Amino acid sequence: MSTKTLHIDGDRLLTRLSELAKRGARDDGGCNRLAFTDADKEGRDLVTGWMRELGMAVSIDGIGNGVARRPGREEGPPVMIGSHIDTVRTGGRYDGNYGVLSGLEVVETLKDAGITTRRPLAVAFFSNEEGSRVAPDMMGSLVYVGGFGLEEAHAAVTIDGKRVGEELARIGYRGDAPTPGPVPYAYVELHIEQGPVLEAEGFRIGAVTGVQGISWTEVTVRGQSNHAGTTPMSYRHDAGYVAGEAAAFVRRLTKEMGGRQVGTVGSIVLEPNLVNVVAQKAVFTVDLRNTDEKLLQSAEARLDEFLGTIADAEAVEISTRRLARFEPVDFDPRMISLVEETARSLGATVMRLPAGAGHDAQMLARVCPAGMIFTPSVKGLSHNVREHTDPADLELGANVLLQTVLTLTETDPFKAASWRAS
Ligand SMILES: [Zn+2]
Repeated sequence: MSTKTLHIDGDRLLTRLSELAKRGARDDGGCNRLAFTDADKEGRDLVTGWMRELGMAVSIDGIGNGVARRPGREEGPPVMIGSHIDTVRTGGRYDGNYGVLSGLEVVETLKDAGITTRRPLAVAFFSNEEGSRVAPDMMGSLVYVGGFGLEEAHAAVTIDGKRVGEELARIGYRGDAPTPGPVPYAYVELHIEQGPVLEAEGFRIGAVTGVQGISWTEVTVRGQSNHAGTTPMSYRHDAGYVAGEAAAFVRRLTKEMGGRQVGTVGSIVLEPNLVNVVAQKAVFTVDLRNTDEKLLQSAEARLDEFLGTIADAEAVEISTRRLARFEPVDFDPRMISLVEETARSLGATVMRLPAGAGHDAQMLARVCPAGMIFTPSVKGLSHNVREHTDPADLELGANVLLQTVLTLTETDPFKAASWRAS
């Protein structure tokens, strides 16, 4: 039979999504499966059980990444479908889970049709993508590609004071498969957009061009607390004022730079945080993102310059600490075109767009051609219990994944000549 007419089973996909959502279920309908918790273990047990039911061999590596393999007609590196099954504390059921469970749906569709692909297939879930319980985020995929050492990852401490290595052992997912892991032939990740663009622009599929760079800085301002009534303005060393000015500066900076520069001061903590006391200390965060590394660097430089100037003007002491820094990633243009052409061939409207959030695919892109498929998020909501994607869009996205994967397993898309011909 022609593989072009194959379709995934949308109901089966939705059933798996709701089954997984029962692990770590919240009363308000959301999911709470923070990495390496008991709820995470329950989710892992369920998903690895499904993988084995599909006849796949499951390996768990030292950071708890799970990789299930299905042999091909030929030996060689597999086409890998991956994402994550951990959530934030107030998560929904689609972020990450949708990509992994659609991978299982691809495998089950092929199995039902009696098809063995030419290249092997792998379906992977990567540990601690969200980073909400322990930094860095995308920890599992970063270890998988050799960007972060296993010992260092094991030593990382969670917000509740536990070591990652011990938590992994406790939940039974400190496996023995080696890291860095084997390099796939190609990597594809299907994910909800987590932003409003596809819905607002009226497109059903996104062909993701890359992931924007992220720069997180924690800024500590030390001034002097004093009486809010008696201290003349010119005598103040007001840490609260400096934090407020910095937040306003970040907004002005994004406006001046325009383009894809975004910036957020998402946390400000003042000491002593009282109505009638000039704050002696402020700790705030700055989140800067851009798809262009040079522009991101210039945003960082302008923030530094601003902090230097205001520290002098207010006579306060300012120190900074880097919390996270990832350069922007451009996906392989051949993968972007493949997703775009596959979506079109299925009659879907498709738009090229960059990802605003971090994803495991950006780590895999360091070692193999990687690409992403986005489906719309209703009202752009994610990391929110009301996160939702229309079932018809979920099904369409999984069918785009299926056909994209089949092109990668059955043809030689990275040989220039055959790429043109296909
Ligand atoms: Zn995600």
